[in-house]
Formats: sequence, C-alpha cells, structure tokens
Amino acid sequence: MGVDLGGTKIEVAVFDEAGKERFRHRVPTPHTGYDQALDELARVILEAEREVGSRCSVGIGMPGAISPRSGRVFNAYNTPFNGRRLQHDLQEKLQREIRFENDANCFALSEAFDGAGHGAAVVFGAILGTGAGGGIVVAGRVLRGHNAIAGEWGHTPLPWMTKEEHPGPPCYCGRAGCIEQFVSGPALNKEIGARGEELANELHEDRLARAFSMVVNFLDPDVIVLGGGLSNIERLYTTVPRLLSRYVYSQTVTTALVRAKHGDASGVRGAAMLWSLETA
Ligand SMILES: [Zn+2]
Repeated sequence: MGVDLGGTKIEVAVFDEAGKERFRHRVPTPHTGYDQALDELARVILEAEREVGSRCSVGIGMPGAISPRSGRVFNAYNTPFNGRRLQHDLQEKLQREIRFENDANCFALSEAFDGAGHGAAVVFGAILGTGAGGGIVVAGRVLRGHNAIAGEWGHTPLPWMTKEEHPGPPCYCGRAGCIEQFVSGPALNKEIGARGEELANELHEDRLARAFSMVVNFLDPDVIVLGGGLSNIERLYTTVPRLLSRYVYSQTVTTALVRAKHGDASGVRGAAMLWSLETA
C-alpha cells in the first residue's frame, strides 16, 4: 500500500505483487489537530486493507522528512504532522513497521523504476506545482542523504539573480530568494499578471534553466523528470534544455528534460515501492 499524505488530501492505493492497482481512495486531510489527523490516517489504512481483504506493507510519502536525529517530521509546514513523531506514533497505533519517505523522493523513485526515467542511472525528479520539490534516485535507490534533505533544490537561492530579481521574495522557510519563489506555479502566475503570458513564460524558462543548471553542475543526472501541475506546459521540454547550455559549466549539455509518465499517481506508487526497492 502506498499513501500520499499531503496538506489537502490523504490518498491511498493498494497494488498487487505485479504492481497492478487494486484499490484507491482519497479523503481530505483533517486540520483539527494532530491526534485527529493521526486517527484518520490510521483509519484510512485499515479501511483499505479491509477493502482488499489482506494486510499490506505500508509506505507513506509526504512533504518534508523525518529527522534522523529526533524522529520528528520537519519541513511539512502545510500538514498537521509537522514537528511530530508521526512514524513512531503510527507504528505504535498499527503495531507494525511503516516506511516513510519524502514525497518528491517517492515521485523520483516511481519515475525511475518504470516511468520517464526508466533505464537511467541517475534520475533527478522535480515537482513543480504550488511548490518546487526534488528527489534523487541513483541506480534504483532513493538517495535520502545524511540529513534526509538530498535533492531539496527548491530552497536554495536562484542562481545568477539579476538586479531586478535580487534579493528575491521572502520564503516561508525563513530565507529569501529561494528557487521555489521563482519557479513554482504561483510564481509563474504572478509574472503572467505583471508581464503578460509570453514574457512571463520566457522569464520562467530562463529561471528554470538557471535552477536546473545547478543540479547538472552538482549531480549531472542522466535525466530530469518533471512532475506537478507545471509539467503540463509542453514548451518547457524544448526551451529549457536549450537554455541549459548557457549556464552549465560544460561545452556540451545533452541532459534530457522529460515529462513524468505516472503523473500524480507517482506519489502513491513510489510510496508503495518503499517496500520493494531499497533506499540509500
Ligand atoms: Zn525557502
């Protein structure tokens, strides 16, 4: 079973051994306190097991991560679980091991396994929607990192800010000028309002190329897979790779930028895969 645990919805899907989907259900995330949200999460999991008539391995993908030190959820600002020992509490409630992973890591895992990144040794998965998340999969394994923060490109400054861009809008993370504040859906919409569609799109593409060039310089993935609402913008897949060569520290840049194959379903798919594929 894979669970996509977000700020607005809890989505569960159950897959059989062959990866075929057998059940799917979604409910709104309660925002009336942690205890109620935890109860609802447990209830949805048990209900799904009743529906399919068997006990499942459960993997959960969610924003942020679990601190390897304190065991508490961090960076999940829009959920009722932030700052809580969610894994510990849910495991206690359900009396078994539950695996957790960042939602962008689940997305990257699903796309690397049998999606748009299939066959690539190093996959960078980027989710562009209301935010900008990222995850890294190397040789079929999620690269979680020492601080459980690997791939979080959205909260680093936009490279090569112009005078007009600098220092950048304040971000909810407490910093300013974060990539997310420049390339997310709301950021693009704001530019469209200010400059009109064409100029806003060109600026957005240039900012995306700058942001991805940092990923290429540092990680040099074989493919960048794009998910989230903005992955539906078809021209990104031609304009952004072309612009990469302007910013990447290499004479030839052939990094492919491709659209996610599984789309929104990658959340529950990748979470379920936490039991069939290993994390690094
Ligand atoms: Zn930020």
